[in-house]
Amino acid sequence: MNTDMALVNHVMPCSGCYPANDRYCATGRELWIEDKVSWFCEMKSKDIRRHEFEIFSLNTGDRFVQEIKKRVVERHYKLRVV
Ligand SMILES: [Zn+2]
Repeated sequence: MNTDMALVNHVMPCSGCYPANDRYCATGRELWIEDKVSWFCEMKSKDIRRHEFEIFSLNTGDRFVQEIKKRVVERHYKLRVV
């Protein structure tokens, strides 16, 4: 199951998650972050990723951007090492 489906499958029946208002329960938020991390990791180049991060930061605010950035870097580092 990809992270996109994991997020949807959680959010649909969850009474604590309101994606339209960017409100998630703890589990939903974690899945949301992982979904974004996967999305950024799939981007082909650093330049595209940097550009998308700027747009994402404007739309989302700083609240979760640092956490997502950190995980993207960690995952890339892991992929390169393995
Ligand atoms: Zn939830």
